[in-house]
Amino acid sequence: MYRCLIKDFETRPSVTHLLEHPFIKQAHGKDTLLRQQLSVLIREQQDVGSRTKTRHERINTRKTLIIESCPDDDLVNLELLDEETIIAHLQKRYQDLQIYTYVGDILIALNPFQNLSIYSPQFSKLYHGMKRSTNPPHIFATADAAYQSMVTLCKDQCIIISGESGAGKTESAHLIVQHLTFLGKANNRTLREKILQVNPLVEAFGNACTAINDNSSRFGKYLEMKFTPTGAVMGAKISEYLLEKSRVIKQATGEKNFHIFYYIYAGLYHQDNLRKYKLPNKTAPRYIDCVNGKVMQDIISSKLYKEQFDAIQDCFRIIGFTEEEVNSVYRILAAILNTGNIEFASASSQHQSDKSEVPNSEALDNAAALLSIGSEELQEALTSHCVVTRGETIIRTNTVDKATVVRDAMSKALYGRLFSWIVNRINALLQPDTNICAAESGMNVGILDIFGFENFKKNSFEQLCINIANEQIQFYFNQHIFALEQIEYQSEGVDVSLVEYEDNRPILDMFLQKPMGLLSLLDEESRFPQATDQTLVDKFQDNLRNKYFWIPKRVELCFGIQHYAGQVLYNVSGFLEKNRDTLPADIVVVLRTSENRLLQQLFSSPLTKTGNLATSRARVTAASRSLPPQLNSGRNKVDTMEMMRHPEETTNMRRQTVASYFRYSLMDLLSKMVVGTPHFVRCIKPNDDRQALRFNKERVMVQLRYTGILETVNIRRQGYSHRILIQEFVNRYYYLAFRAHQMPEGSKENAIIILQKAKLDYWVVGNTKVFLKYYHVEQLNLMLREV
Ligand code: ATP
Ligand code: MG
Repeated sequence: MYRCLIKDFETRPSVTHLLEHPFIKQAHGKDTLLRQQLSVLIREQQDVGSRTKTRHERINTRKTLIIESCPDDDLVNLELLDEETIIAHLQKRYQDLQIYTYVGDILIALNPFQNLSIYSPQFSKLYHGMKRSTNPPHIFATADAAYQSMVTLCKDQCIIISGESGAGKTESAHLIVQHLTFLGKANNRTLREKILQVNPLVEAFGNACTAINDNSSRFGKYLEMKFTPTGAVMGAKISEYLLEKSRVIKQATGEKNFHIFYYIYAGLYHQDNLRKYKLPNKTAPRYIDCVNGKVMQDIISSKLYKEQFDAIQDCFRIIGFTEEEVNSVYRILAAILNTGNIEFASASSQHQSDKSEVPNSEALDNAAALLSIGSEELQEALTSHCVVTRGETIIRTNTVDKATVVRDAMSKALYGRLFSWIVNRINALLQPDTNICAAESGMNVGILDIFGFENFKKNSFEQLCINIANEQIQFYFNQHIFALEQIEYQSEGVDVSLVEYEDNRPILDMFLQKPMGLLSLLDEESRFPQATDQTLVDKFQDNLRNKYFWIPKRVELCFGIQHYAGQVLYNVSGFLEKNRDTLPADIVVVLRTSENRLLQQLFSSPLTKTGNLATSRARVTAASRSLPPQLNSGRNKVDTMEMMRHPEETTNMRRQTVASYFRYSLMDLLSKMVVGTPHFVRCIKPNDDRQALRFNKERVMVQLRYTGILETVNIRRQGYSHRILIQEFVNRYYYLAFRAHQMPEGSKENAIIILQKAKLDYWVVGNTKVFLKYYHVEQLNLMLREV
């Protein structure tokens, strides 16, 4: 239960009036017991109120019900701090549908697995500009704190949402965007509407149903919302990381392809447009139905898919895509589905037993027509390849297997590039209007929502990349919360007892170090055409000798990793091919002949991910100074430029692997994150059955352990999470103790005068910095606003 405080009522408010309060409404709308309790409370509070106020004061006071946050909203306030107590506490709160809990300035969010009515505009109002302690914990409070910090301190902010797959990161990201668009009231209503469509659109292309989550993010997303100095939203920009392209061509049992394929199929079916896009109407294409042939029926009968198709059409329209562009997108998607249906058979010619041909040309013709390229040229590019030897060009034929691999590589490349193009196009359409405000002078709040930690029955290269990315985010969290903080206490002469935490740096080193880290070894092996799964495992075994890596005895072609979040067994089959991710030059050449403008753009060279190499190079170089050492090796500058290209393309002289591109992506992501003040949201999955109100103690315990929540509680209780240079502190807050024209010098003494005048407890002034508790900054900023 929330602690209710009814303050300052002149006349007795009606219970009905109180029940209109957003929290009361959602929690126990028609609960009679609550009504009685409220009546008693009203009477008690009113008696106190009338005794302590003069008549005049009473007349002028507002009728408000204040639902205050209780001390137990923050784990830092618990008397006992052992695991059992924390779990019991979270369980009780979860049972009361209080899914949010603070650990100091960090928000824990337990997935409710049911819709709660606590996200309406009334709730946005309730949290707008409020002190954290005014209301119960909420994702809006975190978004609000980031926004207020940005406006008050004129500094970029970033909200890092972490948690395992299905824990609620993407939902949290949506809610943050919702609250930020509410706060950043732009005069331009259309802009707000556009921003709200960004997530649904990119998620239609980048999310899919997995064994764990029906709407699992298969890419990492960093959304920057851009604001004017006064806090009005003026634009947005997304960066996407490592789309799981292999899903386009194949999905594990019980999993599905990217949502968009089902949406367009259902939408086009209901519009009677399947024929226009050359899609079969009896059996769904293999890429979306490789198992039982029943998917077509599901698609046709699904109301949801059709509604989603309509929603996606709206997203495209609202954001500003032209009809021609949307049509091109659908054509490419339909072309991919047709490409998947192209089959190959051994050619009958006696002389060329390794030659393949396309026995039924319907799918081939359809794909070629949709891509606006010649059918024969496409067949040539799929079934043969050019080799240049000693200045001579020789054409070699592809076997059936090879042709199949080339076909799938083409589909993956088409989808990957289409996805990047959509993201770039959204960015262009949501770019801040430079006439209103120079983009450089604005500030932003970035929201990071990546794919969560995964551990399936069978884990492959994709899981490895996803889990390394999570390892990196955990490292960043540790650095920010524990390591940097402790180093600074020592150098500043501040006496705080040190908290021990699980440092995952050795695991990250094992993956990322050059030249002997796992990714480098994988790259090295990928360069040998003769390499096999076995040689790869042997290479790992010979070179990775530490406690985080092992080769299981009874399982073949596997290796195990002790991640920060648990042990995972990886199956190496396909690792080399997935890492090479080659797209034969012959395919690129034929796709470049397309008459479709969008397709020409996708395969024009060099295609950059950000469209601006110079800016990216400057940002990455600048940020690399503050990056962890394993990502900041001497070669990075060179790598950065190399990795701006799409990894799969082989027309350029040097080839990129997925692993090296991945390493660059991680660095690019960190370079964005380190420039902003971080705010952390830790999503927790209370059970694996996706059931509301089911709290599996063991599962929660494991997640609390590996995310280091217990240590975080300790460090937040003992430590000082905010540090500001003395000079900067005095400049920023001297209004609280001095007159505006006085401009006191930035000395230790003046900092102490300000802190005393502000009546804060438990601060420390070190050699060069002021050390503050997590709640001080909010208090100071509020005071500043009131001056
Ligand atoms: P992944 O790493 O696989 O992308 P995720 O952490 O992003 O996982 P979500 O997709 O956000 O997980 O959440 C999984 C499901 O949990 C949602 O589809 C939704 O049904 C439910 N859920 C999560 N958060 C909430 C919430 N605040 N309110 C209601 N339902 C929620
Ligand atoms: Mg997600």
